[in-house]
Amino acid sequence: MRIVVPREAAAGEGRVALVPDAIGRLTPAGFEVVVERGAGAAAGFPDEDYAAAGATLSESAGLLDGAHGVVRVSRPSAEEVAAMAPGTVLIGFLAPLTDPEGIEHLRRHGVVAFAMESVPRITRAQAMDALSSQATVAGYKAVLIAADRVQKMFPLLMTAAGTIAPARVLVMGAGVAGLQAIATARRLGAVVSAFDVRPAVKEQVESLGAKFLELGVRGEETEGGYAKELTPEQQAAQQAALEERVPEFDIVITTALVPGRPAPKLIAASTVGQMRSGSCIVDLAAEAGGNCELTNPGQEIVRDGVTIVGFTNLPSLMAADASRLYARNVSALLQHLAPEGELTLDFDDDITGGACVARPTDEVAT
Ligand code: NAD
Repeated sequence: MRIVVPREAAAGEGRVALVPDAIGRLTPAGFEVVVERGAGAAAGFPDEDYAAAGATLSESAGLLDGAHGVVRVSRPSAEEVAAMAPGTVLIGFLAPLTDPEGIEHLRRHGVVAFAMESVPRITRAQAMDALSSQATVAGYKAVLIAADRVQKMFPLLMTAAGTIAPARVLVMGAGVAGLQAIATARRLGAVVSAFDVRPAVKEQVESLGAKFLELGVRGEETEGGYAKELTPEQQAAQQAALEERVPEFDIVITTALVPGRPAPKLIAASTVGQMRSGSCIVDLAAEAGGNCELTNPGQEIVRDGVTIVGFTNLPSLMAADASRLYARNVSALLQHLAPEGELTLDFDDDITGGACVARPTDEVAT
C-alpha cells in the first residue's frame, strides 16, 4: 500500500503525521511511504532522516499520484481532496462532529475517510487513541505555559532570605489532559486541586496527590466514559460555586469538554475580576469556545491583571513528541486497516466501522 504524508498547511500546525522512526517500522510491514519535502521540518525531522528511514521524498506537484492512502494531522484542502483518486484512504483529525460539510465533500469524492477522533476508545484500540496522546501533550504544555506567565515559583522554598509559599493550581476537568496537567503541576511542586462532573474521577485525582474540590454538582457519564452536558440549572450552580473558589488560586487550567457541544462556561467574567493580579488561566477548551467567558480562542490576553491563554494548538507547540505519539497512533490504525500492507476493510469491525466517517455510497450498500 502506497501511503503519502503531505506537509501540513494549517496555520500554527507544526506536527507531521509520520516521523522517520514510524516509517522504519511501516516499510518492512508492507507499506511504501512517500513524504512531501519539508513535511517534518517544523517538528525537527529533516528530509534526510525520512530518506534514511526508507521513504521516497516528493515535491508537492504530483504528490498524490498513485497514492492508495493519505495520512495527515488536520483536514485536507479542497485541492488535495480533488487530487485524491476515488477509493483513496484518508486518515487524520477530520472534525466529523463539527465539520459535517467537509465530511460530505470527502464522501462525494469517493474518499474512504477515517477520523482519528472517531476511533472507539476500547482497549483493543488504545494504541490508536490520538485524542489521548495529543491531550497528554496539551495538558503538560498548558502547565509549562502557565508556569512561564506567572511571577511565582511553583515549589515551597525555605531559604535564608525567607519562605516562598507553593503555587496553588486548580485543574477543571480531569480527563486525559486534566490528569496530565495535575501530574505535571505536582512534579513542579505546586499544591493542586481539581474537579470534574464525572464521579469516577475523584479517586484518580487523589491518586495523583491532588485534592478533589467538592462543588456539589454531580453530572452523568455516557457509556463511552464521557461527561453528559449539565442542565442549565446545574451549570449556573457550578459557576456560582466556582466564583467563590477560583480567586484562591494562582493558576487555573481548564479542560472541561463535552464531545460535539460548546465547552461548558465554568469561569464567568466577574470571577476573573476577583482573581489576584498576576494569576493565569490556560483554557484548553478554547477550540470549543472556552471554559472561561473571556477566553479569546487562539489568543493570549490580559484582563484585570489576569493572563488568559486560549491557544488552540498546544500539541503543536511540542511538535516533535506530539508527532512521535501521533505517528504511533496512525501506524497502528494503518496496520489494522491493511495488515501486511494489503487493504482489507471490514466495516463490521468496531474499529474500522467506528473510525470510518465517509465512504462511497455503493460500499455503504454492501
Ligand atoms: P473530554 O476531553 O471529552 O473532557 C475532558 C473532561 O472534562 C472530562 O473528564 C469530562 O468529564 C470533563 N467535564 C465535562 N463537563 C464538565 C464540567 N461542566 N465541569 C467539569 N468537568 C467537566 O474527555 P477525555 O479526556 O477525552 O476522556 C474522558 C474519559 O474517557 C476519561 O474517563 C478517560 O479515562 C476515558 N478514556 C478511556 C479510554 C479507554 O481506552 N477506555 C481511552 C481514553 C479516555
